[in-house]
Parts: sequence; C-alpha cells; structure tokens
Amino acid sequence: MVQIDIDPDKCRGEGVCRAVCPKGGRIYKIVDLGGRRLAVVMDESSCMGCTLCVSRCPFDAIRIDFKKRSRLRDVDF
Ligand code: SF4
Repeated sequence: MVQIDIDPDKCRGEGVCRAVCPKGGRIYKIVDLGGRRLAVVMDESSCMGCTLCVSRCPFDAIRIDFKKRSRLRDVDF
C-alpha cells in the first residue's frame, strides 16, 4: 500500500483527484470544513499507484509515497 498525502494549504477541494482516479469513489472524498472544500483520503489500500491524481491536480497538492509499497513487496517475496 502507498501513502497519499494531500497538502491542505494547496488543495481547494475541486475533486479532480476523485474524478480522474479509477478508484476515486473509494479513495477520495470531498468534504466541507466550515465553508472550505478539501479532498481527504478515505482508503489508500485501493490505490494502484498510477499517479493520475498527482499529475492532474491543478494545485500540485498530492504526493504519493511509494516506499510503503516497496516495504510490503519485500515482505511478500
Ligand atoms: S495514484 Fe492512481 S489509483 Fe492511486 S489515488 Fe492516484 S489516481 Fe487513484
């Protein structure tokens, strides 16, 4: 599993991540925090690591840590 980090200072909650992600409905949720929209990660386990969300975010707000995935691969093999 990877780790997905959303920078709350950059995110404007437009939901591009949720729309472009093949598993967007499972992974991303757009929330309203006192009138401010923000994307939050609900379930990273569904992430396939395609990086579509990272490349399409208009605010460069998403980072994905693949090291977590590598550690799991080491254990699996
Ligand atoms: S890397 Fe791909 S599968 Fe993972 S959250 Fe981003 S768009 Fe979705």
